[in-house]
Amino acid sequence: MAAGRTTVLGYPRIGQRRELKRATEAYWSGKIDATALLDTAASLRRQTWETLRDAGLDEIPSNTFSLYDQVLDHAVLVGAVPPRFRQLTGLDRYFAMARGVTGAPPLEMTKWFDTNYHYLVPEVGPDTVFRLDEEHVKPVEEYHEAAALGLDTRPVLLGPLTFLLLAKPAPGAPEGFRPLDLLSPLLDVYADLLGRLADVGASWVQLDEPALAADRSPEELALLRAAYDRLGSSPRRPKLLVATYFGPIREALGVLAATPVDGLALDLVAGAEDATRVASAGLSRRRLVAGLVDGRNVWRTNLPQALAVAASLLGSVDELMVGTSCSLQHVPLDVSLETSLPEELRGRLAFARQKVDEVVLLGRALREGREQISDELAQAEAARTRRPPGTVDARVRARLAALGDGTPRGDYASRVRARSATNPLPLLPTTTIGSFPQTSEIRAARADLRHGRIDEATYKARMRAEIDKVIALQEDIGLDVLVHGEPERNDMVQYFAERLTGFACTESGWVQSYGTRYVRPPILYGDVARPEPITVEWTTYAQSRTTKPVKGMLTGPVTMLAWSFVRDDQSLAETARQVALALRDEIRDLEAAGIRHIQVDEPALRERLPLRSADQPEYLRWAVGAFRLATSGVADTTTIHSHMCYSEFGEIVDAIDALDADVVSVEAARSRMELVHDLARTGYRRGIGPGVYDIHSPRVPTVEEIEDALRLALAALDPAQLWVNPDCGLKTRRYEEVVPALRAMVEAARRVRATL
Ligand code: GLN
Ligand code: ZN
Repeated sequence: MAAGRTTVLGYPRIGQRRELKRATEAYWSGKIDATALLDTAASLRRQTWETLRDAGLDEIPSNTFSLYDQVLDHAVLVGAVPPRFRQLTGLDRYFAMARGVTGAPPLEMTKWFDTNYHYLVPEVGPDTVFRLDEEHVKPVEEYHEAAALGLDTRPVLLGPLTFLLLAKPAPGAPEGFRPLDLLSPLLDVYADLLGRLADVGASWVQLDEPALAADRSPEELALLRAAYDRLGSSPRRPKLLVATYFGPIREALGVLAATPVDGLALDLVAGAEDATRVASAGLSRRRLVAGLVDGRNVWRTNLPQALAVAASLLGSVDELMVGTSCSLQHVPLDVSLETSLPEELRGRLAFARQKVDEVVLLGRALREGREQISDELAQAEAARTRRPPGTVDARVRARLAALGDGTPRGDYASRVRARSATNPLPLLPTTTIGSFPQTSEIRAARADLRHGRIDEATYKARMRAEIDKVIALQEDIGLDVLVHGEPERNDMVQYFAERLTGFACTESGWVQSYGTRYVRPPILYGDVARPEPITVEWTTYAQSRTTKPVKGMLTGPVTMLAWSFVRDDQSLAETARQVALALRDEIRDLEAAGIRHIQVDEPALRERLPLRSADQPEYLRWAVGAFRLATSGVADTTTIHSHMCYSEFGEIVDAIDALDADVVSVEAARSRMELVHDLARTGYRRGIGPGVYDIHSPRVPTVEEIEDALRLALAALDPAQLWVNPDCGLKTRRYEEVVPALRAMVEAARRVRATL
């Protein structure tokens, strides 16, 4: 039995200075040509391979690079190109599938399991003919590229089962068609590809099957078995490593073990319980890559604990390799790029580059014995366990203990009565989701302040001028509930993180969200408190400019957690309560300052829903509890709004109801108001603002189509429940689109109102 060789499942592709993003955007805008883009891409791949080699990894993955998205790459690789793109070729076709071109809308985009990474949803229909693109077999090309550096890399492919489970039926596919129905022809293509990889010399290939971390039906498990029996019996193939991640795979472990695959990679962080299944799984002749270093969070690994897990696996497999729990694409590149984090915090962090060192160190411990590396281990443990000042805030803890769950609000009917007396609104009130376009002047003012080119007072004056404009515009358009437009916010999570204790923000901690969009998630490391009001001054300023009600805008506790890297030394539920308490204080201050509508955005509520249905009720319990803790301290006359987007909400309608918000606005334009009907069916009686047009597209909707959407919603709702709003914030749009779209929306509301 061999133990202690090392690998990772994938690595960030952006480059130290965001070279990939810059080059791709320059290519899109015509500033550089395809050759320049592809050169940048090739040099980033080379840098990654050399970094991994020099760090001492024994086996290096390839084909983990992507110009946009690995699922898109795979769809193109196996020929799953919808007919609307077939007249295009090469990069044009690739980027058209990602971003759309006139007459050919892009593939849909959705979240990659429970992460904040978005993949493009492949379209597979009965007419899809899978075949390898003869010109360009990316995994083979990248294998060659790395081979030229003297490396026998392990090409990474999305596995066939996960690929088909992630795909959606192509438009026009007959009712009842499932992409999974095409597993057999897809496997022919995999077999062909495995043959080619073997021909060029690849010893191993990695097939990613993260879909196994979610509940799988007996039929799906049977297909899994059949798929790997078939690939395993390919006459000419590299060794097969099936990689799973984001949770335990439970019964799928035995299923895979019964196939001829040569190795498994397991996530022993999110799926720690699988470690106890290894001994009885029948893997004694296989390789196991133990995913001991967390690819989803930024903390140093508890190395002694990881070694204990590794030791428990030793006798059960033929080769025990050390690896990461998943690809490192979900964490930032390198802590050493951070210069302004508090030292104790920096010392506790491990980004992708540092995680590679941890993997290598664990490998050495297994190969050479723990004693050989005792100094390194002791140093790592000292850094890991040091607590930055401010980690514990006794006052926050005492207040939360005293508050418990908070007292629930009065019943909804009396809230409605209280409001119609004090601040009546027309039927079908019109509003927006919060942000207005972030113009170049706004960005410039923020940059000027950051670089000290203007002082705080000048900055404030510019933001106030912007608020004046946005308020005047909304009055002119005739909206009923106004917003200040959020000009002062760089990002809905970072803005609050910068103003709450317990959070730190990075300079270079970029993580890919989709395509060339990267985010810098804050790091939540300590107890959270609000030293002073955050939004009150801006909101009350806006309110002072109008007699119409202005809605205050906050980011909810679950979203604050979901889009940050969160401490792992206490439960998420407890951390969420701390954020909720800070928001509760903010809400109370807004209310005291005369703000009558307050919106607490929870766009990420659905995203963090656990992959296993058995774990979902507990998550929803604390997530809903945190929202209610934040929002239940207000008077009946205050209207609490929430907003959600980016997801299908069908599964969480009960939780949406349980939030007890007075109004929930949701993305619904693209799904034709499905959610409204789902909610109505469960007996939801409070306000709902189904997005009446899609803000993700520059297209300006017509009055008639918005009227249709409203009538569709009214088929399921009492008119007193219906609010009228776009389906998300407007910050990414331009005024040329926003103004006519909002005018159309207000006009549509007026017309429908007249018929009630
Ligand atoms: N209030 C935020 C905005 O309008 C909500 C953003 C979001 O839902 N992602 O921008
Ligand atoms: Zn939204």
